[in-house]
Amino acid sequence: MPKEEKEFGGTPGAIGLMIFSHFVPFYFALSLRYSSGGLYCPSSFDEFIENFKETCSPTWSAFFLYTGFCFLQLIFAATLPGLVIKGLPVPTENNRQYTYNCNALSSWYVTLVLVAILHVTGLVRLTILADQFGSVLCVAVICSDILSIIIHFYALQTKQTCRMTHSPIYDFFMGVWLNPRIRILGQDVDLKMLAEVRLSWLLLFLLIVSAAVKQYEAFHTVTWPMTLILTAQLLYINACMKGEECIPTTWDIFYEKWGWMLIYWNLAGVPFVYAFQAYYILVNSLRTQKPTEGVSMTLIIVCFTVLFFAYYIWDSSQAQKNRFRMKQRGTYVPRNAFPQVPWNTLENPKYLKTECGSTLLIDGWWKYCRKPHYTADICMATCWALSCHQWPGLLPYFYPAFFTGMIIHRYTRDIARCKAKYGKDWTIYCKHVPYAFIPGLI
Ligand code: NDP
Repeated sequence: MPKEEKEFGGTPGAIGLMIFSHFVPFYFALSLRYSSGGLYCPSSFDEFIENFKETCSPTWSAFFLYTGFCFLQLIFAATLPGLVIKGLPVPTENNRQYTYNCNALSSWYVTLVLVAILHVTGLVRLTILADQFGSVLCVAVICSDILSIIIHFYALQTKQTCRMTHSPIYDFFMGVWLNPRIRILGQDVDLKMLAEVRLSWLLLFLLIVSAAVKQYEAFHTVTWPMTLILTAQLLYINACMKGEECIPTTWDIFYEKWGWMLIYWNLAGVPFVYAFQAYYILVNSLRTQKPTEGVSMTLIIVCFTVLFFAYYIWDSSQAQKNRFRMKQRGTYVPRNAFPQVPWNTLENPKYLKTECGSTLLIDGWWKYCRKPHYTADICMATCWALSCHQWPGLLPYFYPAFFTGMIIHRYTRDIARCKAKYGKDWTIYCKHVPYAFIPGLI
């Protein structure tokens, strides 16, 4: 069995991260309920248990809401029209190329229409998510843990494993199955893509819209900070949907296995942790009954400006790289999904040919630094946190701090992989593009 080098601090790191990842969203839910998003410190263990039961006990309606949403997305993934894209050859499976029906955009639009109909007709009001935040979170955590166990043992049983180590806990954390697929209604659905693109981001969007609707119902207004966080997340989530056809060739799909880490963060971590700012604004509006007091319009304008600029760099830089690579492979198909930002496709860009056959773009945003999209993403994450400036507190800043740490760690993992893949060509590439995040600085 080839030995896989361990990341994330090996087995102890994996255990620590699994505990920490469970702690964070529950702590946030309790903090929102009992400390208005401030630090939550129960006076005794009994009080903590009482609070936990009161806020996070799973309910049947939370169960049906969450599983109904996931099931519906699975059906949409199998049935709605999309762009059929070939993935990269998988070396561990005789260079087999999987096909992906990239229909996240249609699923996104259909979900929005469906949710609007359910809300307006009163069949399922959007505010149910805000009302049952802790219960839905608990259901999501239980479902993702159970699913991780099922997927792990199913892959072992059917021998669909790759890059295993000798540590069962580490393998459970990182996953053993690279291309988890199921056949549903005659269509192959890639579960990793489904979870990464739709389940996480669509649920996040519904959660924050739920917070905004709740604020509107209480005050007949959606405040500027809430509008800022809504806009920021709408841009981000829409971009994930409209660019789905670029995802099959990203390293999450061709390299990362579908283990506890991806399953948990896609099904529970991302939606509930990333929704914190919207709920922070909501609970403090309700607590103070003064939703607009303390809003700095200067800061809001600065945040909107930074957000739009950072979004522009983030969207166009990823489009430049992905379209460049798709053109090289002959798989490029122009798409008009809204918005198409200027300079997102480069004509005859400069690039490096490498000995292993791949090409590295050294033009567009990619001539300035090696990770322009990471820097832009960190700027957007900071704007999310600053939307909470009305009521000073630490927890809204968890997301940019966590995101920055996570993305720097991801950068080191990616660089290690690229150095191994490209060898001396990577050194040549780094001479062409010496800076990683900010040109002239780092
Ligand atoms: P990247 O888009 O950075 O892709 C990395 C790969 O791209 C490399 O392994 C290499 O693969 C290829 N590559 C690197 N440089 C070049 C170049 N100059 N020209 C052509 N190809 C190149 O991957 P990520 O998946 O990390 O990031 C995608 C986006 O997702 C980012 O914006 C990131 O911020 C975001 N993200 C957000 C998260 C969140 O929770 N909000 C979590 C994780 C990511 P190859 O082997 O093909 O050469």
